[in-house]
Amino acid sequence: MLIKIGREVNLLAFSKKLEKETGTDVRKCYQCGKCTAGCPMNFEMDVSPSQVIRFCQLGMEEKVLNSRTIWYCIFCDTCSTRCPQGVDIKGVMDGLRRMAVARNIKPKSNVRFLEKAFQSIIYLFGRVYEPGMVGMYNLRSGNFLHDVGYFPLMLRKRKISLKPHFKRTREVRQVMKRAQKMKLRKAKELEEAK
Ligand code: SF4
Ligand code: SF4
Repeated sequence: MLIKIGREVNLLAFSKKLEKETGTDVRKCYQCGKCTAGCPMNFEMDVSPSQVIRFCQLGMEEKVLNSRTIWYCIFCDTCSTRCPQGVDIKGVMDGLRRMAVARNIKPKSNVRFLEKAFQSIIYLFGRVYEPGMVGMYNLRSGNFLHDVGYFPLMLRKRKISLKPHFKRTREVRQVMKRAQKMKLRKAKELEEAK
């Protein structure tokens, strides 16, 4: 892939910003490709994990924050475990997602609907309630009957229950509120650092 970099691009600025956000120095990567070779989600990604790291080295912030890849990473950690240079690629993906969210960049997948559904259910019940979560996800994503066909079988096999269980709801809500405050503070810091 041919990459053109303008003279105005400060190659180190984004790597340093990313290191501050994630604690990982992407400049250590020498592009061996082991992370990409082991990634189980590479087939869904528009930019491979090693390319993401390369773009980060080259200061191509817009390219990585607008990629599908950062939303398709499932944080399995295979890449970070395989990296001979100790680059925490998974941590970089997570950091890039946070940066994208802080900048209100719309995710390139339905993962945001799943995340919202998960958070709402945890907030309501203090633990996962699968039928509610799938229902919310389907409503938000507009794909109303997605996976509904599995429902009877899962009920029969007792993999899910129709009855929600409540677990330490008050404490969970407190933790979530605190996390939300931290997220807003972080977004403000990122905005000020621009
Ligand atoms: S495995 Fe590590 S060194 Fe190799 S391309 Fe991926 S990040 Fe770079
Ligand atoms: S953590 Fe993400 S990028 Fe790394 S191997 Fe797993 S899915 Fe791929």
